[in-house]
Amino acid sequence: MSNHIYFTEEHNEFRKIFRDFLHREVVPYIEKWEKTGEIERFIWEKFGEMGYFGLNQLEEYGGLNLDLFYTVIFLEELQRINSGGFAAAMWAHSYLNMSHLKAEASHEIKQKYLTPSIEGKKIGCLCITEPFGGSDVAGMRTTAVKQGNTYVINGSKTFITNGMYSDYLIVAAKTNPDDRHKGISMFVIDRNTKGVTSTKLNKLGWKASDTAEIAFDNVTIPIENLLGEEGKGFSYIMQHFALERLVMGVNAHARAEFAVEYAIQYMSERESFGQTINKFQVLRHKIAEMASKVDMCKEYNYSIAKRLNDGEYVVKEASMSKLLSTKMADEIIYDALQLLGGYGYMEDYPIARMYRDSRIGPIGGGTSEILKEIIAKIIIDGKKYNKQVDI
Ligand SMILES: Cc1cc2nc3c(=O)[nH]c(=O)nc-3n(C[C@H](O)[C@H](O)[C@H](O)COP(=O)(O)OP(=O)(O)OC[C@H]3O[C@@H](n4cnc5c(N)ncnc54)[C@H](O)[C@@H]3O)c2cc1C
Repeated sequence: MSNHIYFTEEHNEFRKIFRDFLHREVVPYIEKWEKTGEIERFIWEKFGEMGYFGLNQLEEYGGLNLDLFYTVIFLEELQRINSGGFAAAMWAHSYLNMSHLKAEASHEIKQKYLTPSIEGKKIGCLCITEPFGGSDVAGMRTTAVKQGNTYVINGSKTFITNGMYSDYLIVAAKTNPDDRHKGISMFVIDRNTKGVTSTKLNKLGWKASDTAEIAFDNVTIPIENLLGEEGKGFSYIMQHFALERLVMGVNAHARAEFAVEYAIQYMSERESFGQTINKFQVLRHKIAEMASKVDMCKEYNYSIAKRLNDGEYVVKEASMSKLLSTKMADEIIYDALQLLGGYGYMEDYPIARMYRDSRIGPIGGGTSEILKEIIAKIIIDGKKYNKQVDI
């Protein structure tokens, strides 16, 4: 049953419509996209037509400017169709690259990239991680050198979601390579700019999404493609991490919840020793424990979503959300697979894919080790992080 503290009748109606949409328009294609690793363009456009890419976006540019619980529903329902890759392609577009456009881009750049992104006509990606290291963001080596009315970008990025088939890239690069945190700036780059090349990567899970390594060889872009101010890139990236990490926490509780529901259903049908396996106390207790863990994370994530929605800068709480929810999801899905016995290991049953897809949770968008560093700095050293842009 929907949690009435956070979800209104309108939210519940939206959930129903979005769930029906996913089952009608997306589910019939999931197996195909999981095999090809390429999500066809028509579905991006359908998401755009329905307004699903504009839930938290500015009305002036075609968005709906709805509260964050519409986003929560969007994320939860995407997890329930069990293609982590498809879900990632959709939420990365909405909440990684578009967050930077929303907060930092000029009016002209918003018209050129944000509006078509909301309409599903242009796909974007966010390029921060580099082959030399992702956790140490300030240590990035890609450079952007100002030359007259242009910036010239050189370097490379890796593990970029939507990195192969997107139309534009939001790229972090050093405008001052001698400075760590204050030397980073953000840019938008058209995919077809001379000198941009991508190589598709083969991964353990998230099979439907295209993940790529991207090289920039003397890529020349107009100075208008700088997002926000020069040298502020690091603080922009950190600011957006609050929403991004909560997004990943919500994804985690949603896939874990789906796994528990599936296991309960399976246990009510599977027989062993002359009775359905949901009669064995050891398995009943396992399910009780699993469901409790899911609920604890879910309720925490909802409360943090509420605080973020109300304008609070919840960097510590969003880090905690991702840290524990992704760990919980991995454990729950591992246990759910066990409850299915040999069938859990088969691709014809949903848990096998979930098991692979879930493993990226404690890695992507800030590893658990880095999240612990942030939390420790806040709660032990008293470090303060202040809100600087509207997220
Ligand atoms: C499928 C997928 C999709 C992704 N999508 C994107 C994307 O769209 N855009 C993007 O920019 N990036 C993306 N990433 C990159 C992801 O964010 C990075 O992989 C992640 O931040 C870790 O960086 P790394 O892989 O370079 O690991 P490293 O930084 O090399 O870390 C290796 C190990 O060392 C640990 N470690 C590093 N530093 C410390 C420290 N100070 N203290 C303790 N432990 C430490 C890490 O926790 C990790 O366990 C994606 C990754 C994957 C796998």
